[in-house]
Amino acid sequence: MSDSSRKPVEPFKIKSVEPIRMTSREEREQIIRKGGFNLFNVPAENVFIDLLTDSGTSAMSHFQWAGMMQGDESYAGARSYFRFEKAVRNIFGFKHVIPTHQGRAAERILFQTVVEPGHRVPNNIHFDTTRANVEVRDAEALDLAREAAYDPDDRSLFKGDMDVDKLKALIMESGAEKIPLVMLTITNNSGGGQPVSLANLRAASAVCRESGIPFFLDACRFAENAYFIQQREDGQSGRSVLEIARDIFSCADGATMSAKKDALVNIGGILTLNDDALAEELRNNLIVSEGFSTYGGLAGRDLEAISQGLEEVMEEAYLEHRIAQVGYLWELLHQAGIPVYGPPGGHAVYVLADRFLPHIPSDQFPGQALSIALYREAGVRSVEIGGVMFAKKDEATGKDVYPELELIRLAVPRRVYTLTHLEYVADSLISLFERRNTIKGLRITHQAPHLRHFTVRFEEIG
Ligand SMILES: *Cc1c(COP(=O)(O)O)cnc(C)c1O
Repeated sequence: MSDSSRKPVEPFKIKSVEPIRMTSREEREQIIRKGGFNLFNVPAENVFIDLLTDSGTSAMSHFQWAGMMQGDESYAGARSYFRFEKAVRNIFGFKHVIPTHQGRAAERILFQTVVEPGHRVPNNIHFDTTRANVEVRDAEALDLAREAAYDPDDRSLFKGDMDVDKLKALIMESGAEKIPLVMLTITNNSGGGQPVSLANLRAASAVCRESGIPFFLDACRFAENAYFIQQREDGQSGRSVLEIARDIFSCADGATMSAKKDALVNIGGILTLNDDALAEELRNNLIVSEGFSTYGGLAGRDLEAISQGLEEVMEEAYLEHRIAQVGYLWELLHQAGIPVYGPPGGHAVYVLADRFLPHIPSDQFPGQALSIALYREAGVRSVEIGGVMFAKKDEATGKDVYPELELIRLAVPRRVYTLTHLEYVADSLISLFERRNTIKGLRITHQAPHLRHFTVRFEEIG
């Protein structure tokens, strides 16, 4: 972490503004009741500060907007595709570069091609969409993060690392032929946005190469991860983020990426790899649902914006501010005694809702209750990552089993909010913390069989 005593100053000025409106307390009360205490049902115009996600919510630069005017919308072989290919190759270094409309499209195409029923696909921690894309193939998605990833008080600097011993044990037990690829997510989104060290990437890569298993990165936040390596890992401090990023990708055989994160755009995805035969199969699959291989479901102007964003995201002034901004919000909460998952990760701050609300038992959803309270109090939208999203029914006992961590995530969109906005969020949470005993638990009144968090409805208890 860089100098946390200094306030992070935005390395940009504002050329175009989007007004945000503060609702009244009464309006918000009506809105949450109408939405069944589910923040996915709140129209965005009724949200003052929206920290639901950092995905697709970035502000583009004037260079990116100018690039959009230069988009070449030719169906095949557009100029914009070649710029995109060059920009991706410059960083990732793989031979084949395939655009897709989102990260999950890249995952679907890759997994549909290489994953067979009964296969096992390890990751540090699978993101929801990679897990789903493995599981629809009737294969098993395995999380091999170190124990530290699940301990909010462990202050290790690379909590995103994969447990390489677990990986070796898995290969021994299943046999390499059951493992079509190993994935590693940088930074580890489902584990607090924590980085993976270069040493760990190299170790995992060596194990894969020894066993002949392809090694792919889920590279949505590669620049944030590379910056953490520069700041935190021995021997890396004098090196540029681009050099480190190239080292990261040189460990792997390919990558998927959602451009909605570290390409600083609102839509897009990337699939890139070295294997010629596999690339041909992937392109054939791409054509069926996404489009021809030089646009993959995107407009030429989107490819321009991604190409430009990939350069900007590696600028050190940008990254220094980005990481410091998230660290600053974390510090404000931590100093006030609010329980947070530490150390701060790259894109979000996670509040430990079960410790914030010890009087609410897990079957009354403390994370959901806290995210509702924060919206009610201040018009701030966060997202629950806990029992609502991840509780599973134990088939044997019929009882719900709750996840290890009960969190709300405050994801920080890139280049969108100022320090004052984040101070407002912190002040609101601190004021809630002082009155936390007044926050009530929730009971489910309606739910869907899959991914229930999007549509579930609740009522308040008591
Ligand atoms: C967002 C994300 C994805 C999926 O990308 P989409 O563009 O939303 O489809 C995959 N993996 C990780 C780690 C992500 O954060």
